[in-house]
Amino acid sequence: MIQISNLHKSYVMGTNSLHVLKGLDLVIEEGEFVAVRGSSGSGKSTLLNIIGILDDYDLGSYYLGGRLMQGLNETKAALTRNEMIGFIFQSFNLISFKNAMENVALPLYYQKVSRRKRNQIALEYLDRLGLKEWAHHLPSEMSGGQKQRVAIARALISKPKIILADEPTGMLDSTTSFEVMDILKEINDQGKTVIIVTHEHDIAAMTKKIIRLKDGVIEEVIKNGDLQLFKDRVRTE
Ligand code: ADP
Ligand code: MG
Repeated sequence: MIQISNLHKSYVMGTNSLHVLKGLDLVIEEGEFVAVRGSSGSGKSTLLNIIGILDDYDLGSYYLGGRLMQGLNETKAALTRNEMIGFIFQSFNLISFKNAMENVALPLYYQKVSRRKRNQIALEYLDRLGLKEWAHHLPSEMSGGQKQRVAIARALISKPKIILADEPTGMLDSTTSFEVMDILKEINDQGKTVIIVTHEHDIAAMTKKIIRLKDGVIEEVIKNGDLQLFKDRVRTE
């Protein structure tokens, strides 16, 4: 599904350049449930944004579903993104003056689905996430956990193959965090590839594989199959 080799990414600011990803290799198969960990500033969001075709890279290669993602223009990138990827963010990124249903329906607006049809589908997704009664409420009237569920419904509505979540529980209390993780686990159980960035070890422990980013490369990959090693690892972190 995702094949990355020798990936390099630098940020250039004036005469300064910050080399963030330094020859990173990564393969993620369809249906995996992966956590990306690493200290703040290690390049986790940079990597996720490249995987989500929100940003380009400098060197190396990135294949998504067998297609090389490189130097795409914005239209092409947006099309591929719409078809393949759903994003979930730490701060939900909901539109404040639109209600829950309209927020969830937004990706279908870009696909030129009629208002009536897209609102109907949005209601179905809200219902699935237990938020039907909240359809006509604004984000400001909802709790953090509810807002993140709206964001998850929005990510799912275009039926992407991959869900990318950047610190999806970063603004939530621990009970709500686990509820959100349970939803992501369910989504993964239904066959979607789920990749989350997190620095919380108990959140990472709910996935099936942990990838550690350090010094611009992947320092280690821990599979949940080896449960004891996995538990010892997350405990000592
Ligand atoms: P993480 O998500 O692991 O905290 P990021 O990928 O956000 O790390 O950032 C990696 C490094 O790149 C940090 O030092 C950050 O300041 C820098 N960086 C991120 N985005 C930009 C940008 N758009 N322009 C310049 N520097 C950036
Ligand atoms: Mg980040």
